[in-house]
Amino acid sequence: EKRNANEPEFIQAVREVAETVIPFIDKNKKYQNAKLLERMVEPERVFMFRVPWTNDQGEIEINRGFRVQMNSAIGPYKGGLRFHPSVNLSILKFLAFEQTFKNSLTTLPMGGGKGGSDFNPKGKSDAEVMRFCQSFMTELSKYIGANTDVPAGDIGVGAREIGYLFGQYKRLRDEFTGVLTGKGLEYGGSLIRPEATGYGTVYFAESMLKTRGEDFNGKKVVISGSGNVAQFATEKAIELGATVVTLSDSSGYIVDEAGIDSEKLAFVKELKNVKRGRIKEYVEKYPEATYVEGKTPWTVKCDIALPCATQNELQEEDAKTLVSNGCICVGEGANMPCTADAVEVFLEAKILFSPGKASNAGGVATSGLEMSQNSLRYNWTREEVDAKLHQIMNDIHAKCVEYGTEEDGFVNYVKGANIAGFVKVADAMLAQGVV
Ligand code: NDP
Repeated sequence: EKRNANEPEFIQAVREVAETVIPFIDKNKKYQNAKLLERMVEPERVFMFRVPWTNDQGEIEINRGFRVQMNSAIGPYKGGLRFHPSVNLSILKFLAFEQTFKNSLTTLPMGGGKGGSDFNPKGKSDAEVMRFCQSFMTELSKYIGANTDVPAGDIGVGAREIGYLFGQYKRLRDEFTGVLTGKGLEYGGSLIRPEATGYGTVYFAESMLKTRGEDFNGKKVVISGSGNVAQFATEKAIELGATVVTLSDSSGYIVDEAGIDSEKLAFVKELKNVKRGRIKEYVEKYPEATYVEGKTPWTVKCDIALPCATQNELQEEDAKTLVSNGCICVGEGANMPCTADAVEVFLEAKILFSPGKASNAGGVATSGLEMSQNSLRYNWTREEVDAKLHQIMNDIHAKCVEYGTEEDGFVNYVKGANIAGFVKVADAMLAQGVV
């Protein structure tokens, strides 16, 4: 902790894993004395670089770029790029650390990495975003490759940004390879990749509910965020018969007790993805809904909560409110949206709770499937990719149950995901020697 004293998010993520993995190591001789966890918390490599670009006024702007190559024991580094003003080394190390375990859980051969910039795409023109992406990739291209490190999207990096980044990589390297995932369908993308994280989060929650004889049908669902993950979690929950009553962004949330149906969701997709507007505009279009400024949606009564915006957006008090309002299931769509205290509340109440590294792994799993299709130079159909995604989510659920079931039968998915993710990476590291 002393070594990473200025990195609170990273310490938070490591502590959560250590709490469940250290007792497991203590019980399993083969993992002792190999300093596996100590090695896993130290990135194999970190790049930090200057990203200069010119805005529409002709002024020079300077951002900071990063790539954290955390662990390559089981495959090439893999993990998204985040463009958000809050981006710093602590956040990217926490995300890269989580990614290592998550990628291991998917069963696909992918190591862990994460990167991004403190660039804020909000309010920037397409041309500015393009110039920024080209400058960012000019440096990043030196460190990545289809067989070494394959970045993807994350907060602030969607189809538009991936397109500009890919275009610049191809131009610099003169090769058409699967060096990024989340690409457009016309140039090597996979069907279902945009949907994958949100759909996967709901598939995972569905598996958890099944263990208690429940399902989504007729349930009231509270979702935070209104970006990629939130939109497709909403879509799948509606398809399974649930009523989704909230969405949010960093300014506030909307509640629509009548339910956000497919037509309203189409409006949100257009609003956020094309017009790049704010969620409060929802109430101008649908006046039956209400907008609450500056708050998160956790006080709204629900059966299922899916936090899909960002880290630490659901705190201890919110968790207590959810539990006392009768919420039976919380599935993390975002990375580490619940604080450690909030998770403790859910575990003590013994409600169904899944950590992001298990429940949002569908996104990176489908990125893995995109890499496979690029290598094969072949495309699978929508149904084929969706079926593989669903199977992977079921398999991750089964592994969490295997490693996380406690003596009284309660499934601690936090423990299950951490140990299952650890075992594969640890075995590979043991086999590869002290590297
Ligand atoms: P998007 O950029 O598409 O959407 C992010 C959403 O979260 C927006 O609604 C945004 O609101 C909101 N948000 C961002 N920062 C904050 C903040 N500080 N406080 C409150 N709300 C905030 O990103 P994604 O949907 O792709 O990602 C959401 C989460 O899911 C992240 O934690 C990401 O790491 C995780 N994730 C994403 C995967 C993917 O495939 N996309 C895969 C696995 C995990 P605003 O518009 O105001 O910024």
